Amino acid sequence: MENLQWRFLPMLTLLASSLFLLFFKDPSKSSHSECSLLPYNHFWITSKRIVTPQGVISAAVEIKGGNIVSIVKEEDWHRNSKTGQVIDYGDAVIMPGLIDVHAHLDDPGRAEWEGFPSGTKAAAAGGITTLIDMPLNSDPSTTSTETLKLKLEAAEKRIYVDVGFWGGLVPENAFNESALEALLNAGALGLKSFMCPSGINDFPMTDASHIKEGLAVLARYKRPLLVHAEIQQDSGRHVELEDDTLDSRLYSNYLKTRPPSWEQAAISELLTVAKDTRIGGPAEGAHLHIVHLSDASSSLDLIKEAKSNGCSITVETCPHYLAFSAEEIKDGDTRFKCAPPIRDSANKEKLWEALMGGHIDMLSSDHSPTVPELKLLDEGNFLKAWGGISSLQFVLPVTWSYGRKYGVTLEQLASWWSERPAKLAGQASKGAIAVGNHADIVAWDPDTEFDLNDDHPIYIKHPSISAYLGSRLSGKVLATFVRGNLVYKEGNHAPAACGSPILAK
Ligand SMILES: [Zn+2]
Repeated sequence: MENLQWRFLPMLTLLASSLFLLFFKDPSKSSHSECSLLPYNHFWITSKRIVTPQGVISAAVEIKGGNIVSIVKEEDWHRNSKTGQVIDYGDAVIMPGLIDVHAHLDDPGRAEWEGFPSGTKAAAAGGITTLIDMPLNSDPSTTSTETLKLKLEAAEKRIYVDVGFWGGLVPENAFNESALEALLNAGALGLKSFMCPSGINDFPMTDASHIKEGLAVLARYKRPLLVHAEIQQDSGRHVELEDDTLDSRLYSNYLKTRPPSWEQAAISELLTVAKDTRIGGPAEGAHLHIVHLSDASSSLDLIKEAKSNGCSITVETCPHYLAFSAEEIKDGDTRFKCAPPIRDSANKEKLWEALMGGHIDMLSSDHSPTVPELKLLDEGNFLKAWGGISSLQFVLPVTWSYGRKYGVTLEQLASWWSERPAKLAGQASKGAIAVGNHADIVAWDPDTEFDLNDDHPIYIKHPSISAYLGSRLSGKVLATFVRGNLVYKEGNHAPAACGSPILAK
Protein backbone atom coordinates (compact mmCIF):
# COMPACT_ATOMS: atom_id res chain seq x y z
CA MET A 1 0.00 0.00 0.00
CA GLU A 2 2.69 2.37 0.95
CA ASN A 3 4.53 1.84 -2.32
CA LEU A 4 1.39 2.47 -4.26
CA GLN A 5 0.77 5.69 -2.42
CA TRP A 6 4.22 6.96 -3.27
CA ARG A 7 3.79 5.98 -6.83
CA PHE A 8 0.56 8.01 -7.10
CA LEU A 9 1.82 11.02 -5.25
CA PRO A 10 3.59 12.73 -8.19
CA MET A 11 0.54 12.12 -10.32
CA LEU A 12 -1.72 13.56 -7.67
CA THR A 13 0.54 16.58 -7.30
CA LEU A 14 0.45 17.12 -11.02
CA LEU A 15 -3.33 16.82 -11.06
CA ALA A 16 -3.70 19.17 -8.13
CA SER A 17 -1.39 21.75 -9.64
CA SER A 18 -3.11 21.68 -13.00
CA LEU A 19 -6.47 22.04 -11.28
CA PHE A 20 -4.99 24.91 -9.33
CA LEU A 21 -3.80 26.52 -12.56
CA LEU A 22 -7.18 25.97 -14.15
CA PHE A 23 -9.15 27.59 -11.39
CA PHE A 24 -6.79 30.01 -9.76
CA LYS A 25 -4.51 31.12 -12.58
CA ASP A 26 -6.08 34.55 -12.70
CA PRO A 27 -8.54 35.04 -9.91
CA SER A 28 -9.76 38.30 -11.47
CA LYS A 29 -11.07 36.48 -14.53
CA SER A 30 -14.09 34.21 -14.58
CA SER A 31 -13.65 31.12 -16.68
CA HIS A 32 -14.87 31.41 -20.26
CA SER A 33 -17.81 29.09 -19.68
CA GLU A 34 -19.23 31.47 -17.10
CA CYS A 35 -18.76 34.60 -19.19
CA SER A 36 -20.53 33.23 -22.24
CA LEU A 37 -23.52 31.08 -23.03
CA LEU A 38 -21.38 29.57 -25.80
CA PRO A 39 -18.71 27.02 -24.96
CA TYR A 40 -16.23 28.17 -27.63
CA ASN A 41 -14.36 31.33 -28.45
CA HIS A 42 -13.82 30.72 -32.16
CA PHE A 43 -17.01 30.69 -34.19
CA TRP A 44 -18.89 32.18 -37.11
CA ILE A 45 -22.14 34.11 -37.20
CA THR A 46 -24.00 33.94 -40.48
CA SER A 47 -27.02 35.94 -41.59
CA LYS A 48 -28.63 37.33 -44.72
CA ARG A 49 -28.70 40.78 -43.11
CA ILE A 50 -25.42 41.84 -41.57
CA VAL A 51 -25.13 45.59 -41.12
CA THR A 52 -21.61 46.74 -41.97
CA PRO A 53 -20.18 50.18 -42.78
CA GLN A 54 -20.29 49.05 -46.43
CA GLY A 55 -23.98 48.25 -46.30
CA VAL A 56 -26.24 45.34 -45.41
CA ILE A 57 -24.76 42.08 -46.69
CA SER A 58 -25.40 38.36 -46.60
CA ALA A 59 -22.25 37.07 -45.01
CA ALA A 60 -20.42 35.21 -42.28
CA VAL A 61 -18.58 36.98 -39.50
CA GLU A 62 -15.68 35.11 -37.96
CA ILE A 63 -15.11 35.73 -34.27
CA LYS A 64 -12.00 34.65 -32.45
CA GLY A 65 -10.68 35.63 -29.06
CA GLY A 66 -13.33 38.32 -28.69
CA ASN A 67 -12.61 40.10 -31.96
CA ILE A 68 -13.99 40.06 -35.47
CA VAL A 69 -11.22 38.41 -37.48
CA SER A 70 -12.85 38.09 -40.88
CA ILE A 71 -16.04 38.80 -42.80
CA VAL A 72 -16.83 36.58 -45.75
CA LYS A 73 -19.60 37.51 -48.18
CA GLU A 74 -22.07 34.79 -49.11
CA GLU A 75 -20.78 34.58 -52.69
CA ASP A 76 -17.30 33.78 -51.38
CA TRP A 77 -18.34 31.16 -48.85
CA HIS A 78 -17.60 28.21 -51.10
CA ARG A 79 -13.99 29.37 -51.44
CA ASN A 80 -13.59 29.62 -47.72
CA SER A 81 -13.29 26.66 -45.41
CA LYS A 82 -14.94 27.73 -42.22
CA THR A 83 -13.29 26.07 -39.27
CA GLY A 84 -15.07 26.42 -35.99
CA GLN A 85 -18.73 26.49 -35.03
CA VAL A 86 -21.30 28.28 -37.19
CA ILE A 87 -24.35 29.99 -35.73
CA ASP A 88 -26.84 30.69 -38.47
CA TYR A 89 -29.21 33.56 -37.74
CA GLY A 90 -31.02 33.23 -41.08
CA ASP A 91 -32.92 36.44 -41.86
CA ALA A 92 -32.34 38.01 -38.46
CA VAL A 93 -30.45 41.29 -38.43
CA ILE A 94 -26.87 41.26 -37.21
CA MET A 95 -25.81 44.73 -36.13
CA PRO A 96 -23.02 46.23 -34.08
CA GLY A 97 -24.09 46.23 -30.45
CA LEU A 98 -25.67 49.47 -29.31
CA ILE A 99 -23.50 51.99 -27.47
CA ASP A 100 -25.53 54.04 -25.06
CA VAL A 101 -23.56 57.18 -24.26
CA HIS A 102 -26.06 58.44 -21.72
CA ALA A 103 -27.20 56.14 -18.94
CA HIS A 104 -27.54 56.71 -15.21
CA LEU A 105 -26.87 53.47 -13.35
CA ASP A 106 -26.76 55.20 -9.94
CA ASP A 107 -24.07 52.92 -8.55
CA PRO A 108 -22.54 53.25 -5.98
CA GLY A 109 -24.71 55.00 -3.45
CA ARG A 110 -28.12 54.78 -5.07
CA ALA A 111 -28.01 51.23 -6.34
CA GLU A 112 -31.59 50.80 -5.16
CA TRP A 113 -32.52 53.11 -8.06
CA GLU A 114 -30.84 50.82 -10.64
CA GLY A 115 -27.31 49.58 -9.98
CA PHE A 116 -24.69 48.02 -12.23
CA PRO A 117 -25.99 44.41 -12.19
CA SER A 118 -29.62 45.08 -13.15
CA GLY A 119 -28.72 47.99 -15.44
CA THR A 120 -26.17 46.04 -17.44
CA LYS A 121 -28.40 42.93 -17.57
CA ALA A 122 -31.13 45.15 -19.01
CA ALA A 123 -28.63 46.59 -21.47
CA ALA A 124 -27.56 43.12 -22.59
CA ALA A 125 -31.19 42.07 -23.03
CA GLY A 126 -31.72 45.16 -25.17
CA GLY A 127 -28.76 44.62 -27.48
CA ILE A 128 -26.62 47.30 -25.81
CA THR A 129 -23.02 46.09 -25.56
CA THR A 130 -21.44 49.25 -24.17
CA LEU A 131 -22.82 51.96 -22.01
CA ILE A 132 -21.23 55.10 -20.71
CA ASP A 133 -22.34 55.86 -17.21
CA MET A 134 -23.24 59.42 -16.26
CA PRO A 135 -21.34 61.02 -13.37
CA LEU A 136 -24.43 61.89 -11.40
CA ASN A 137 -27.28 60.16 -9.58
CA SER A 138 -24.77 57.85 -7.98
CA ASP A 139 -23.62 58.97 -4.55
CA PRO A 140 -21.09 60.51 -4.59
CA SER A 141 -21.06 62.03 -8.06
CA THR A 142 -18.05 61.19 -10.24
CA THR A 143 -16.18 64.49 -10.15
CA SER A 144 -12.70 63.43 -8.96
CA THR A 145 -10.21 60.60 -9.21
CA GLU A 146 -11.37 59.29 -5.80
CA THR A 147 -15.00 59.12 -6.87
CA LEU A 148 -14.08 57.54 -10.21
CA LYS A 149 -12.26 54.89 -8.21
CA LEU A 150 -15.47 54.21 -6.28
CA LYS A 151 -17.26 53.69 -9.60
CA LEU A 152 -14.64 51.18 -10.71
CA GLU A 153 -14.89 49.31 -7.45
CA ALA A 154 -18.68 49.22 -7.69
CA ALA A 155 -18.47 47.91 -11.26
CA GLU A 156 -15.99 45.15 -10.54
CA LYS A 157 -17.43 41.75 -11.50
CA ARG A 158 -20.91 43.32 -11.51
CA ILE A 159 -21.25 44.46 -15.14
CA TYR A 160 -22.64 42.24 -17.92
CA VAL A 161 -21.64 44.63 -20.73
CA ASP A 162 -18.71 47.02 -21.13
CA VAL A 163 -19.07 50.23 -19.16
CA GLY A 164 -17.19 53.51 -19.53
CA PHE A 165 -17.52 56.59 -17.35
CA TRP A 166 -18.02 60.30 -17.93
CA GLY A 167 -16.58 62.57 -15.27
CA GLY A 168 -18.41 65.60 -13.91
CA LEU A 169 -17.46 69.20 -14.70
CA VAL A 170 -18.69 71.19 -11.72
CA PRO A 171 -17.77 74.64 -10.31
CA GLU A 172 -15.54 72.97 -7.74
CA ASN A 173 -13.17 71.47 -10.33
CA ALA A 174 -13.74 73.69 -13.37
CA PHE A 175 -11.03 76.21 -12.52
CA ASN A 176 -8.73 73.56 -11.09
CA GLU A 177 -6.77 72.37 -14.07
CA SER A 178 -4.80 69.71 -12.23
CA ALA A 179 -7.97 68.21 -10.73
CA LEU A 180 -9.54 67.95 -14.18
CA GLU A 181 -6.35 66.50 -15.61
CA ALA A 182 -6.21 63.93 -12.83
CA LEU A 183 -9.80 62.87 -13.55
CA LEU A 184 -9.03 62.54 -17.27
CA ASN A 185 -5.73 60.78 -16.59
CA ALA A 186 -7.63 58.32 -14.42
CA GLY A 187 -9.68 57.33 -17.46
CA ALA A 188 -12.85 59.45 -17.61
CA LEU A 189 -13.88 59.34 -21.28
CA GLY A 190 -14.90 62.99 -21.20
CA LEU A 191 -16.85 65.36 -18.97
CA LYS A 192 -20.48 66.22 -18.41
CA SER A 193 -21.98 69.41 -17.04
CA PHE A 194 -25.34 71.04 -16.38
CA MET A 195 -26.40 74.58 -17.22
CA CYS A 196 -29.37 74.33 -14.85
CA PRO A 197 -29.78 72.69 -11.43
CA SER A 198 -29.24 68.95 -11.86
CA GLY A 199 -31.45 67.88 -8.99
CA ILE A 200 -28.44 66.28 -7.31
CA ASN A 201 -26.84 68.23 -4.46
CA ASP A 202 -23.22 67.34 -5.12
CA PHE A 203 -23.53 68.11 -8.83
CA PRO A 204 -24.03 71.89 -9.06
CA MET A 205 -24.60 73.71 -12.34
CA THR A 206 -21.92 75.34 -14.45
CA ASP A 207 -22.01 78.49 -16.54
CA ALA A 208 -20.20 79.38 -19.76
CA SER A 209 -17.04 80.39 -17.88
CA HIS A 210 -16.71 76.92 -16.30
CA ILE A 211 -17.43 75.31 -19.65
CA LYS A 212 -14.76 77.41 -21.36
CA GLU A 213 -12.17 76.23 -18.82
CA GLY A 214 -13.29 72.62 -19.15
CA LEU A 215 -13.02 72.72 -22.93
CA ALA A 216 -9.48 74.10 -22.73
CA VAL A 217 -8.38 71.08 -20.68
CA LEU A 218 -10.37 68.58 -22.75
CA ALA A 219 -8.72 69.92 -25.90
CA ARG A 220 -5.40 68.44 -24.82
CA TYR A 221 -7.02 65.04 -24.33
CA LYS A 222 -9.22 65.24 -27.44
CA ARG A 223 -12.23 64.25 -25.36
CA PRO A 224 -15.74 65.67 -25.34
CA LEU A 225 -17.81 67.78 -22.99
CA LEU A 226 -21.44 66.69 -22.77
CA VAL A 227 -23.82 69.42 -21.71
CA HIS A 228 -27.34 69.42 -20.36
CA ALA A 229 -28.46 72.52 -22.20
CA GLU A 230 -31.26 74.24 -20.33
CA ILE A 231 -30.97 77.57 -18.53
CA GLN A 232 -33.69 78.62 -16.13
CA GLN A 233 -35.59 81.57 -17.52
CA ASP A 234 -38.01 83.64 -15.51
CA SER A 235 -40.84 82.56 -17.78
CA GLY A 236 -40.84 78.94 -16.67
CA ARG A 237 -39.77 79.46 -13.10
CA HIS A 238 -42.49 82.04 -12.64
CA VAL A 239 -45.13 79.44 -13.50
CA GLU A 240 -43.68 76.92 -11.08
CA LEU A 241 -42.87 79.06 -8.09
CA GLU A 242 -45.44 81.78 -8.03
CA ASP A 243 -48.65 80.12 -8.98
CA ASP A 244 -49.94 78.22 -5.97
CA THR A 245 -53.16 77.36 -7.71
CA LEU A 246 -51.33 75.42 -10.41
CA ASP A 247 -52.74 71.91 -10.79
CA SER A 248 -49.58 69.84 -10.49
CA ARG A 249 -51.28 66.81 -12.07
CA LEU A 250 -51.70 68.53 -15.43
CA TYR A 251 -48.93 67.67 -17.85
CA SER A 252 -49.57 70.94 -19.67
CA ASN A 253 -48.60 72.78 -16.51
CA TYR A 254 -45.33 70.89 -16.19
CA LEU A 255 -44.62 71.68 -19.83
CA LYS A 256 -45.05 75.41 -19.10
CA THR A 257 -42.41 75.25 -16.37
CA ARG A 258 -39.68 74.22 -18.86
CA PRO A 259 -40.41 75.99 -22.15
CA PRO A 260 -38.23 75.66 -25.27
CA SER A 261 -36.72 79.05 -24.41
CA TRP A 262 -34.71 77.30 -21.66
CA GLU A 263 -33.00 75.10 -24.24
CA GLN A 264 -32.56 78.01 -26.63
CA ALA A 265 -30.98 80.21 -23.96
CA ALA A 266 -28.53 77.49 -22.97
CA ILE A 267 -27.55 76.64 -26.52
CA SER A 268 -27.02 80.28 -27.48
CA GLU A 269 -24.77 80.70 -24.46
CA LEU A 270 -22.93 77.47 -25.26
CA LEU A 271 -22.21 78.69 -28.75
CA THR A 272 -20.25 81.62 -27.38
CA VAL A 273 -17.69 79.08 -26.12
CA ALA A 274 -18.24 76.42 -28.79
CA LYS A 275 -16.28 78.56 -31.23
CA ASP A 276 -13.17 77.80 -29.17
CA THR A 277 -13.34 74.26 -30.59
CA ARG A 278 -12.87 75.43 -34.17
CA ILE A 279 -9.61 74.69 -35.97
CA GLY A 280 -7.09 77.22 -34.72
CA GLY A 281 -9.31 78.06 -31.70
CA PRO A 282 -8.05 77.93 -28.11
CA ALA A 283 -9.87 74.63 -27.49
CA GLU A 284 -9.19 72.92 -30.81
CA GLY A 285 -9.39 69.16 -30.19
CA ALA A 286 -12.17 69.46 -27.64
CA HIS A 287 -15.71 68.64 -28.66
CA LEU A 288 -19.10 69.79 -27.42
CA HIS A 289 -21.98 67.37 -27.32
CA ILE A 290 -25.48 68.52 -26.45
CA VAL A 291 -27.39 65.79 -24.69
CA HIS A 292 -31.09 64.95 -25.03
CA LEU A 293 -32.29 67.75 -27.30
CA SER A 294 -36.05 68.15 -27.05
CA ASP A 295 -36.72 71.50 -28.76
CA ALA A 296 -36.66 71.03 -32.52
CA SER A 297 -37.22 74.70 -33.34
CA SER A 298 -34.74 77.52 -32.60
CA SER A 299 -32.43 75.28 -30.54
CA LEU A 300 -31.87 73.05 -33.51
CA ASP A 301 -31.31 76.02 -35.81
CA LEU A 302 -28.61 77.31 -33.46
CA ILE A 303 -26.84 73.94 -33.51
CA LYS A 304 -26.99 73.78 -37.31
CA GLU A 305 -25.48 77.25 -37.44
CA ALA A 306 -22.64 76.26 -35.09
CA LYS A 307 -21.89 73.19 -37.19
CA SER A 308 -21.77 75.23 -40.36
CA ASN A 309 -19.40 77.67 -38.64
CA GLY A 310 -16.89 74.91 -38.02
CA CYS A 311 -17.54 74.29 -34.32
CA SER A 312 -16.84 70.74 -33.16
CA ILE A 313 -20.35 70.03 -31.94
CA THR A 314 -22.83 67.16 -32.03
CA VAL A 315 -26.27 66.59 -30.58
CA GLU A 316 -28.27 63.61 -29.42
CA THR A 317 -31.94 63.09 -28.78
CA CYS A 318 -33.65 60.22 -27.00
CA PRO A 319 -36.28 57.68 -27.99
CA HIS A 320 -38.86 59.19 -25.62
CA TYR A 321 -38.84 62.47 -27.54
CA LEU A 322 -39.37 60.50 -30.74
CA ALA A 323 -42.00 58.11 -29.42
CA PHE A 324 -44.26 60.29 -27.29
CA SER A 325 -45.90 63.69 -27.55
CA ALA A 326 -47.36 65.98 -24.91
CA GLU A 327 -50.90 65.54 -26.23
CA GLU A 328 -50.82 61.82 -25.38
CA ILE A 329 -49.48 62.12 -21.85
CA LYS A 330 -52.23 61.63 -19.32
CA ASP A 331 -52.47 64.02 -16.41
CA GLY A 332 -50.86 62.50 -13.34
CA ASP A 333 -48.79 59.98 -15.36
CA THR A 334 -45.42 61.03 -13.99
CA ARG A 335 -43.67 58.11 -15.71
CA PHE A 336 -43.37 60.59 -18.60
CA LYS A 337 -41.69 63.34 -16.62
CA CYS A 338 -38.21 64.20 -17.83
CA ALA A 339 -36.16 67.30 -18.45
CA PRO A 340 -36.24 68.86 -20.94
CA PRO A 341 -39.85 67.76 -21.25
CA ILE A 342 -41.52 65.79 -24.02
CA ARG A 343 -43.11 68.47 -26.21
CA ASP A 344 -46.03 68.49 -28.68
CA SER A 345 -46.49 66.26 -31.68
CA ALA A 346 -45.48 68.96 -34.15
CA ASN A 347 -42.13 69.18 -32.33
CA LYS A 348 -41.80 65.40 -32.44
CA GLU A 349 -42.28 65.43 -36.20
CA LYS A 350 -39.54 68.03 -36.51
CA LEU A 351 -37.20 65.95 -34.37
CA TRP A 352 -37.71 62.98 -36.67
CA GLU A 353 -37.13 65.21 -39.68
CA ALA A 354 -33.87 66.47 -38.15
CA LEU A 355 -32.74 62.97 -37.26
CA MET A 356 -33.54 61.59 -40.71
CA GLY A 357 -31.91 64.64 -42.29
CA GLY A 358 -28.66 64.14 -40.38
CA HIS A 359 -28.95 67.25 -38.20
CA ILE A 360 -29.31 65.19 -35.02
CA ASP A 361 -26.24 63.00 -34.86
CA MET A 362 -27.11 60.15 -32.54
CA LEU A 363 -29.45 58.67 -29.99
CA SER A 364 -29.04 57.79 -26.35
CA SER A 365 -31.38 56.38 -23.74
CA ASP A 366 -30.92 58.92 -20.93
CA HIS A 367 -32.12 56.03 -18.80
CA SER A 368 -32.68 57.84 -15.53
CA PRO A 369 -34.63 55.72 -13.10
CA THR A 370 -35.36 56.10 -9.43
CA VAL A 371 -37.31 54.21 -6.81
CA PRO A 372 -41.07 54.14 -7.57
CA GLU A 373 -41.87 56.19 -4.45
CA LEU A 374 -40.03 59.21 -5.86
CA LYS A 375 -42.02 59.05 -9.10
CA LEU A 376 -45.11 59.88 -6.99
CA LEU A 377 -47.27 57.72 -9.23
CA ASP A 378 -50.23 57.76 -6.82
CA GLU A 379 -50.20 61.48 -6.29
CA GLY A 380 -49.35 62.21 -9.95
CA ASN A 381 -47.57 65.43 -9.04
CA PHE A 382 -45.59 66.45 -12.12
CA LEU A 383 -43.91 69.34 -10.34
CA LYS A 384 -42.49 67.26 -7.49
CA ALA A 385 -41.93 63.81 -9.05
CA TRP A 386 -38.43 62.63 -10.02
CA GLY A 387 -37.70 63.58 -13.62
CA GLY A 388 -36.26 60.79 -15.73
CA ILE A 389 -37.46 58.19 -18.20
CA SER A 390 -36.72 54.55 -17.56
CA SER A 391 -36.02 52.89 -20.86
CA LEU A 392 -32.64 51.20 -21.15
CA GLN A 393 -33.72 47.73 -22.27
CA PHE A 394 -36.24 48.95 -24.83
CA VAL A 395 -34.40 51.57 -26.91
CA LEU A 396 -33.74 49.38 -29.95
CA PRO A 397 -37.32 48.15 -30.44
CA VAL A 398 -38.66 51.62 -29.58
CA THR A 399 -36.47 53.39 -32.16
CA TRP A 400 -37.36 50.78 -34.73
CA SER A 401 -41.10 50.60 -33.96
CA TYR A 402 -41.63 54.35 -34.03
CA GLY A 403 -39.13 54.94 -36.82
CA ARG A 404 -40.57 52.53 -39.36
CA LYS A 405 -43.19 54.98 -40.57
CA TYR A 406 -40.43 57.52 -41.24
CA GLY A 407 -38.51 54.94 -43.28
CA VAL A 408 -35.67 54.34 -40.82
CA THR A 409 -33.07 51.98 -42.27
CA LEU A 410 -30.89 49.43 -40.51
CA GLU A 411 -27.82 51.46 -41.51
CA GLN A 412 -29.29 54.52 -39.81
CA LEU A 413 -29.94 52.54 -36.64
CA ALA A 414 -26.33 51.39 -36.64
CA SER A 415 -25.10 54.92 -37.24
CA TRP A 416 -27.23 56.56 -34.51
CA TRP A 417 -26.78 53.83 -31.94
CA SER A 418 -23.29 52.46 -32.61
CA GLU A 419 -20.96 54.22 -35.01
CA ARG A 420 -21.38 57.80 -33.86
CA PRO A 421 -21.66 57.01 -30.15
CA ALA A 422 -18.41 54.99 -30.46
CA LYS A 423 -16.74 58.00 -31.98
CA LEU A 424 -18.03 60.34 -29.28
CA ALA A 425 -16.75 58.04 -26.57
CA GLY A 426 -13.40 57.53 -28.32
CA GLN A 427 -13.90 53.80 -28.84
CA ALA A 428 -12.15 53.05 -32.11
CA SER A 429 -12.55 49.26 -31.73
CA LYS A 430 -16.29 49.43 -31.26
CA GLY A 431 -19.36 50.64 -33.10
CA ALA A 432 -19.10 48.74 -36.37
CA ILE A 433 -18.99 45.19 -37.67
CA ALA A 434 -15.53 45.42 -39.16
CA VAL A 435 -12.42 43.25 -39.12
CA GLY A 436 -10.27 44.00 -36.09
CA ASN A 437 -13.12 45.41 -34.01
CA HIS A 438 -14.43 43.94 -30.79
CA ALA A 439 -17.09 41.32 -31.49
CA ASP A 440 -19.84 43.47 -29.91
CA ILE A 441 -22.89 42.29 -31.76
CA VAL A 442 -26.66 42.17 -31.48
CA ALA A 443 -28.83 39.68 -33.36
CA TRP A 444 -32.45 40.78 -33.56
CA ASP A 445 -35.62 40.12 -35.44
CA PRO A 446 -37.22 43.34 -36.70
CA ASP A 447 -40.53 41.68 -37.53
CA THR A 448 -41.42 40.01 -34.26
CA GLU A 449 -43.94 42.03 -32.28
CA PHE A 450 -44.39 41.81 -28.57
CA ASP A 451 -46.36 43.43 -25.79
CA LEU A 452 -44.27 45.05 -23.15
CA ASN A 453 -46.20 43.78 -20.18
CA ASP A 454 -45.61 41.75 -17.04
CA ASP A 455 -45.10 38.57 -19.09
CA HIS A 456 -42.13 40.06 -20.89
CA PRO A 457 -38.74 39.43 -19.27
CA ILE A 458 -37.66 42.86 -18.03
CA TYR A 459 -34.38 43.42 -16.21
CA ILE A 460 -34.41 47.09 -15.24
CA LYS A 461 -34.89 47.27 -11.49
CA HIS A 462 -38.22 49.13 -11.45
CA PRO A 463 -40.28 48.25 -14.54
CA SER A 464 -43.41 49.93 -13.10
CA ILE A 465 -41.93 53.41 -13.61
CA SER A 466 -41.15 52.88 -17.30
CA ALA A 467 -43.24 54.96 -19.68
CA TYR A 468 -42.98 52.15 -22.23
CA LEU A 469 -44.80 49.57 -20.17
CA GLY A 470 -48.01 48.62 -21.89
CA SER A 471 -46.66 49.42 -25.38
CA ARG A 472 -46.69 47.04 -28.31
CA LEU A 473 -43.31 47.06 -29.99
CA SER A 474 -41.61 45.34 -32.88
CA GLY A 475 -38.02 44.15 -32.90
CA LYS A 476 -37.02 41.32 -30.66
CA VAL A 477 -33.46 40.96 -29.43
CA LEU A 478 -32.35 37.35 -29.94
CA ALA A 479 -28.75 37.43 -28.80
CA THR A 480 -26.13 39.86 -27.58
CA PHE A 481 -22.37 39.31 -27.81
CA VAL A 482 -19.88 41.40 -25.86
CA ARG A 483 -16.31 40.87 -27.11
CA GLY A 484 -17.33 37.46 -28.41
CA ASN A 485 -19.07 36.36 -25.23
CA LEU A 486 -22.70 35.46 -25.73
CA VAL A 487 -23.93 37.44 -22.74
CA TYR A 488 -27.64 37.21 -23.48
CA LYS A 489 -29.82 34.81 -25.40
CA GLU A 490 -33.62 34.88 -25.37
CA GLY A 491 -34.29 35.41 -21.71
CA ASN A 492 -31.01 34.03 -20.37
CA HIS A 493 -27.87 35.82 -19.26
CA ALA A 494 -24.38 34.36 -18.99
CA PRO A 495 -23.83 33.30 -15.36
CA ALA A 496 -20.91 35.65 -14.70
CA ALA A 497 -20.70 39.40 -15.15
CA CYS A 498 -17.70 39.65 -17.48
CA GLY A 499 -18.14 43.15 -18.93
CA SER A 500 -15.02 45.31 -18.89
CA PRO A 501 -14.71 48.75 -17.42
CA ILE A 502 -13.54 51.11 -20.16
CA LEU A 503 -10.95 53.69 -19.22
CA ALA A 504 -9.54 56.26 -21.60
CA LYS A 505 -5.81 56.01 -22.13
ZN1 LIG B 1 -29.26 62.25 -18.08
